[in-house]
Amino acid sequence: MPSPQISPNADLNGDGEIDVFDAIVIGAGVSGLYQTYCLRQAGLSVRCFEEAGGVAGCWYWNRYPGCALDSPSESYGYSFSDELLQEWDWKHHYSKQPDTEEYLNFVADKFNLRPYIQLSTRVLSAVWHEEQCVWEVEVEGGQRARASFLVPAVGHLSAPLTPSFEGTERFQGQVFHASRWPREDPDFGGKRVAVIGTSATGMQISPELAKVCAHLTVFQRTAVYGIPADNAPIDPEVQREWKSRYQEIHKLIRENATGTPVGPDPRSGHEFTQEERLAHYEQAWKRQGYEKFLSIFWDVHTDLELNAEYAEFLRGKIRAQVNDPVLAEKLVPAATLPFGARRIPLETGYYDAFNRDNVSLVDVRETPIECLTEQGIRTSEREHEFDIIIYATGYDGVTGALSRIDIRGADGQSLKAKWDAQGLSTYLGLTSAGFPNLLISNNGALCNYTICAEWIAEWITEFVQYMRRHRFDRMEPTPEAEAAWVEHHDEMGAKTFWGHAEYSWYLGSNVPGKKRRFTLYAQTGPAWRKECYGAIERGYEGFTLRRQSDDGPVDTGSAATVPYAP
Ligand SMILES: Cc1cc2nc3c(=O)[nH]c(=O)nc-3n(C[C@H](O)[C@H](O)[C@H](O)COP(=O)(O)OP(=O)(O)OC[C@H]3O[C@@H](n4cnc5c(N)ncnc54)[C@H](O)[C@@H]3O)c2cc1C
Repeated sequence: MPSPQISPNADLNGDGEIDVFDAIVIGAGVSGLYQTYCLRQAGLSVRCFEEAGGVAGCWYWNRYPGCALDSPSESYGYSFSDELLQEWDWKHHYSKQPDTEEYLNFVADKFNLRPYIQLSTRVLSAVWHEEQCVWEVEVEGGQRARASFLVPAVGHLSAPLTPSFEGTERFQGQVFHASRWPREDPDFGGKRVAVIGTSATGMQISPELAKVCAHLTVFQRTAVYGIPADNAPIDPEVQREWKSRYQEIHKLIRENATGTPVGPDPRSGHEFTQEERLAHYEQAWKRQGYEKFLSIFWDVHTDLELNAEYAEFLRGKIRAQVNDPVLAEKLVPAATLPFGARRIPLETGYYDAFNRDNVSLVDVRETPIECLTEQGIRTSEREHEFDIIIYATGYDGVTGALSRIDIRGADGQSLKAKWDAQGLSTYLGLTSAGFPNLLISNNGALCNYTICAEWIAEWITEFVQYMRRHRFDRMEPTPEAEAAWVEHHDEMGAKTFWGHAEYSWYLGSNVPGKKRRFTLYAQTGPAWRKECYGAIERGYEGFTLRRQSDDGPVDTGSAATVPYAP
């Protein structure tokens, strides 16, 4: 096999020379950090390129006021190191952004990952060279590097989406996208502020800004179901208790249908009268944060009739928090939007903020935004003047960050062009036909993401180790395997309520012109994991593996050893 020259800690000095690694990872968030760790542990030379000036991925970028986890902290930490679990103390039940960023920096230091990470380096392109079986990556500034394996861990919610309003360049005030927040907070004192967007980010940032700005105007396109986070500092006794049973917590995340430590009530809602069901929802409402909806009858999440009843229960909860009944009705999601059709945000004081004199709502379905002006935003009704406009308009989910890199596979095929034409098309969510040795780590399933990122990184590492053990240079999923996976992926998606949402990154329908296709695997993380390890256990089913010296595909031999599999 043509063995690439390895320079494990090569200094990428930008002098025109091409540095060579076994693997290039793109992104140093939850996924990229652990991927780098796993590949290093497996003995590979690794370079991780990260656009941001620090590690932590979305927890580096999203430093807007109010940003916090909506997974409980005890379930968001990595599970792979008991030492790490014992050493780290979470501060809040839903960890606030600065603490989560600090945690990931702690991980980078503890596992000595920094020597392998090159910060402030945006990857522009990656080109597959068939003869050498390597990827060549070019970063901003012209540096190039090569590796046998390319692992983009670029995030499924990391490509910010900004609407292209007419006159954007005319606005004379300050403009921020919540996910590209400046390191020094802007001064909101005495300012008139617009927040555009009312999903997870809009719900988190708005109540915080309302406390400090002169006037806040929230522009809403879709009212969604915000659930109270009930966030609070963690009692040291609770922290000790977590530390004593982390193994159990992680087992639950891996096994529960919810992909979290909280399983749904296994009884069907149909076994009960309406009165009993409402009492059950009320009882669950007393639980903390996301337990309110995860602990209810399992079929509320799958049965449209039960879901509609629960959604109405939630509308009642929203109405009860807003003093002005007309305004409350605007903040209540439409009856056509099932609960769970869009990502479910946790909120802290969002609805209550609308009881303040300095907060108002513009429903852009009633009065659409026509353009930006020098002074602010003109809707079909009137001009609103602002000093600051904040986009809380979300992401081009899952495919966005990958499509923003010019990735060229076999025969120069562009990944972006492939997905523009077909929508997201992968085998197992981790590989794509026509793109050899590309192992994608930014896909998602319904799961606590850190645990998801761990098994993806472990799966990728196992694959790479298998190839190296058996001296394979090239792997690629077969088009047939990919077509079958896409069909299965679509079938699973169709069983959810996701298709009911008019605008949603779950479907790509929030991005103008994006081909609609379910972007997440609509099974839980554990179910997805089983599918992926199943392919390995069946001898790398669905993949073609080659040695450079061979004329054609070779038998993968005996079933692989799967050290990380359950
Ligand atoms: C505000 C917010 C809150 C969230 N809350 C939760 C939660 O509570 N629970 C949960 O499970 N998930 C949550 N998520 C989902 C979150 O994306 C995952 O939890 C997790 O952080 C993903 O990690 P990642 O490493 O895969 O991606 P990211 O954290 O997005 O990191 C990707 C990295 O890749 C880098 N990158 C991208 N393109 C390039 C390029 N071309 N060149 C170089 N670098 C590049 C980016 O700069 C970024 O640092 C949240 C997401 C957001 C945005």
